[in-house]
Amino acid sequence: MAVKTETLHFDLKNTVTPNRFRGLWRMMTGFHWHYLGATLSLGVAALAKTTTYLLLRYFVDNYFTPQQGTTVLPLWMIALGFVLLAVVEGGFTFLSARLAISTAEGVTLRLRNYLYDQIQRLSFTYHDKTQTGELIQRSTSDVDALRRFFADQAIGIGRIVLLFTINFIALLQLNVKLTLLSIIVIPFVVLTSIFFFKRVSKAYESYQEQEATLSTTLQENLAGVRVVKAFARQNYEIEKFERDNWEKFKRGRYLTKMHALFWPSSDILCGFQILAGYLLGAIMAINGEISVGTYMAYAGLIIWIIYPLRNLGRLIVQTSTGLVSYGRVMEIIKQDREKLDEGDTESKDGLHGQITFDQVGFEYETGTPVLEDISFKAESGQVIALLGSTGSGKTTLVNLLPRFYEYTAGSILLDGIELKRYPRRYLRQQIGIVEQEPFLFSRSIRENISYGVSRNVSDDEVESAARAAAIHDVIRTFPEGYHTLVGEKGVTLSGGQKQRVAIARTLLKNPRILILDDSTSSVDTETEAEIREALQNLMQNRTTFIIAHRIQSIMDADLILVMDRGRIVQRGQHSDLVAVDGIYRRIYEIQTRIETELEKEIANAG
Ligand code: ADP
Repeated sequence: MAVKTETLHFDLKNTVTPNRFRGLWRMMTGFHWHYLGATLSLGVAALAKTTTYLLLRYFVDNYFTPQQGTTVLPLWMIALGFVLLAVVEGGFTFLSARLAISTAEGVTLRLRNYLYDQIQRLSFTYHDKTQTGELIQRSTSDVDALRRFFADQAIGIGRIVLLFTINFIALLQLNVKLTLLSIIVIPFVVLTSIFFFKRVSKAYESYQEQEATLSTTLQENLAGVRVVKAFARQNYEIEKFERDNWEKFKRGRYLTKMHALFWPSSDILCGFQILAGYLLGAIMAINGEISVGTYMAYAGLIIWIIYPLRNLGRLIVQTSTGLVSYGRVMEIIKQDREKLDEGDTESKDGLHGQITFDQVGFEYETGTPVLEDISFKAESGQVIALLGSTGSGKTTLVNLLPRFYEYTAGSILLDGIELKRYPRRYLRQQIGIVEQEPFLFSRSIRENISYGVSRNVSDDEVESAARAAAIHDVIRTFPEGYHTLVGEKGVTLSGGQKQRVAIARTLLKNPRILILDDSTSSVDTETEAEIREALQNLMQNRTTFIIAHRIQSIMDADLILVMDRGRIVQRGQHSDLVAVDGIYRRIYEIQTRIETELEKEIANAG
């Protein structure tokens, strides 16, 4: 069934409502007719089924115990009637299933797209406090539970109501007393369903939560596989996984137990009802209160009244899983998106890159300041170096510039205008970041280098960026040059190579402001020289912030800020800072001592 593309782009924000059924109904927007069609088709199929039993009654009563003086339909017509009814029933059941599936697939296709979109736009703060495994779980397993809800349960409710109503009316036509006796069981079935509904909801929610924990464990383990191996912590990791997995097993077992208890109890109830119906019907038929044909029709129809009832219980219980998953998915959808285009300033002819911090303060959590009273000025094109121990706030400080986080005190001016007035999207286009451990996608080298620019870039542009980043000669040696894939299916790049690809990527993006996490300390001297050259090319004419780990790489900086516990404790140029007693000189002395000792050792070894 063709699905209109516009129905696939639909803002799901309004599906967030405390009334979960209303939310699910809204989620079906664009598919309501499909859903109605599916339910109506089921109605037609149910009607055909009921008519089959009524025809059976007619057949039995007229052919086995013929009445004098009545004209009966010819046998071939009755036979044809059975065949036609079977065809109608089959055909409409099929149609209904198709419509139900296209509803379910369409709604969840849209939901998955929307979730992915939403996850791209959530704030850093949200990502900070949400585990990846949890997000993966909600966008896969929970969406799948919703798909099942739309494919089975949503349609099932309509089916049950129709089956029950139609057959109930048909039974009433047959015999009122018998009919009323056949529904005594209803309140009991409903009560057991409600009893289990609550328990299954809870059990399922806790099962999904545990599954998310397990996904997170697995995901983190894979992402941190190097750390695990380096620290030889495999056994610990395996034990941790087994513990989590065991917990999942237990919760799964409990969930299954709830289902397992529910089924037999509702089956027993329904079984008794059917038996009682058969018995009563038989007695009435023997006493001549009803005809044999009526009894046969009744015997068939009662199943179709009890069956929907039994399924109603199952449906109520299964719906609970759909509702839980709905809640889990809405938890993501209801989050505010990062407003990328909010702001009123954009410099059409580009930024100069002059940045002023004035008594800037920041806290991730209210009450615990991470940055305090940060004031300094960076002129356009200057190099500002940040030095300080781990946790002193260097990363946090630079993360304020692209507005990953919003400063909570003071002001930051960019070219004289308050930073908060620039749209985030614009800022992020103007700022280039080279991380300590750059992330490359499992795509071709070319795609990785041109990642930051949305326009089409020529091969020449990519190549000249790679040359400036001193990585072109390496790429040339790869089997498919710039089209070689990075990662598992392609080449494995060394840390230094990755970094240079990241530098090429930033060069091509051509930002006015640059943030570098200096990590050259981890690479060998030859690579270091190459990276340094690449970095020099990158930093030209750009205001640059370097998070430095070694003093050697920041000796030429225009301004060095020494940070400690969220404050600037020393500032100036290298020559000023070594001249006075303080953290800077101490770090400098330690680093030079280590290096001279290293050099000595190397010389001795040589
Ligand atoms: P540095 O880059 O100098 O190592 P950071 O800026 O990463 O320092 O961290 C500064 C402080 O802020 C640390 O105490 C750290 O624990 C805290 N911090 C960093 N990121 C977050 C975050 N996303 N949420 C809460 N606290 C954070």
